[in-house]
Amino acid sequence: MQTIDTALEKLQRSKFRSSFRLTAAEKAYVEAKGEETVRRHAEDFVKSKLAAAFPENDGRQTPTRGHPVFKAMHATACCCRGCLNKWYRVEKGVPLSEEAQKKIVALLMAWIRRQIADRDAPEGAQTKKETV
Ligand SMILES: [Zn+2]
Repeated sequence: MQTIDTALEKLQRSKFRSSFRLTAAEKAYVEAKGEETVRRHAEDFVKSKLAAAFPENDGRQTPTRGHPVFKAMHATACCCRGCLNKWYRVEKGVPLSEEAQKKIVALLMAWIRRQIADRDAPEGAQTKKETV
């Protein structure tokens, strides 16, 4: 089991995955709605788009824009069962357990939180390693 930090670091090394970034408007949306509301949205999207054994339109079910969580799903490779299988070895053809859904939501929210924390970086800039 990898930690969320390990997963996020691996994703950051993927040119494609790290190309997804929240826009200023999307960050403002998250801040206006509040994290708890956005988390509920994430739970709903994970349930409706990923949780079934064979999700509808699998591979094309997640838009790349329209909601910060959609972007997070692509950025974290939680966009379809194919990517979940490739990145996290989540078995295809079986429903996602409640626990698996919770882990995905936690990863999505961690990515969103990092994007918000990075708000002063110019859009499109590479995320620098956080220093403490
Ligand atoms: Zn995918």
